[in-house]
Amino acid sequence: MADESAGQETLARLLARRIVMDGPVSVGTFMAEALGHPRFGYYMRRDPFGTGGDFTTAPEISQMFGELVGLWCVDSWARLGGPGPFHLVELGPGRGTLMADVLRAAAVLPLFRDNAIVHLVETSPSLRERQRQTLQPILGDAIHWHDRLDDVPDGPTILIANEFFDALPIRQVQKTNYGWFERLVDVEPASTEDDPRFRFVLEAFGSSGNRLVPDALREAPDGSVVEVSPASQAVARLIGTRLAAAPGAALAIDYGYAHGPAVGDTLQAMRRHAYAPVLEAPGEADLTAHVDFAAIAAAAREGGAQSFGVAEQGEWLSRLGIRQRASALAAKASPAQAQDIRGALDRLIDPAQMGRLFKLVAFATPGAFADSPPAGF
Ligand code: SAH
Repeated sequence: MADESAGQETLARLLARRIVMDGPVSVGTFMAEALGHPRFGYYMRRDPFGTGGDFTTAPEISQMFGELVGLWCVDSWARLGGPGPFHLVELGPGRGTLMADVLRAAAVLPLFRDNAIVHLVETSPSLRERQRQTLQPILGDAIHWHDRLDDVPDGPTILIANEFFDALPIRQVQKTNYGWFERLVDVEPASTEDDPRFRFVLEAFGSSGNRLVPDALREAPDGSVVEVSPASQAVARLIGTRLAAAPGAALAIDYGYAHGPAVGDTLQAMRRHAYAPVLEAPGEADLTAHVDFAAIAAAAREGGAQSFGVAEQGEWLSRLGIRQRASALAAKASPAQAQDIRGALDRLIDPAQMGRLFKLVAFATPGAFADSPPAGF
């Protein structure tokens, strides 16, 4: 393997040369390059989902997930007064499965479908192509792709994001007896240019660390690692700004902690449905970190939106009627299919599986849900 690839460019070699030239990079830069490098980034080259890929997400487990998210969108839109044409935005749509299920469920209110202008925020060309295959039969050519949320036109908005925030870069800081220092990624001195290995080091002076650490955690014990995601906060703030400027609601679903910011290193790599060392093969494994829901909710409020939640996925799906939906589907299915449906239901709502680790937060135009919170919150 090593011989065959000698001299061939890899992201590891490219990053190692950059580090040798310019010095260690932040964990955020390492993560951003590993996932999003235009040529070698993890999401840029492949379809990572499903049983043949590296991990499976809720919309890929069962159509029930997307249908209930779809009903949430329809209900929210109706309660906003059904504002004529509106932007139906998804951040990080993967294979397009969630949007397809949302649109199918939205058939309950044809006015919603008729007024929705679909925008997909996606940086990966190969996943854009996958999304086109999934959604063209439903939407024809009426699909708008964007690299960034900033590029979506202003106006009334319903926005969804499943497992998007966990893919945005985090930075890590560590407490020492000299204060907070940012954790950086350096090249292992003993490794070679052809087969570089990486290791964590601390920045030299603590200037980034002391600036990044949240005030509430400044006094944490020596050795503590704290994660912050300026990139996630920037997106959440932008969602807040949009919802303050025009009627709308947003739903973010992800794995993470509700009462952050928490102490601890949650950066993880997934390869073929198993954990892998995080620095081992940049671009070859999915790199994610727990989402700090309190931090993104605070950022969205700073942007001007109201926030609801955090709700746990199991409870939220139950409140929206996933058990009834599963029974209805199972009643029409073969015994084997009915067993699959019950298995999927368990995976989505069981607290020991996705039910508790996965959480939801909603954002909305202030006052728009004054009578009662958005569905499920
Ligand atoms: N929502 C899908 C996919 C989750 S994986 C599902 O639930 O199955 C993360 C998705 O976000 C992928 O589509 C990935 O290409 C996209 N993505 C990651 N970082 C991004 C960024 N900075 N900007 C836009 N899209 C991004």
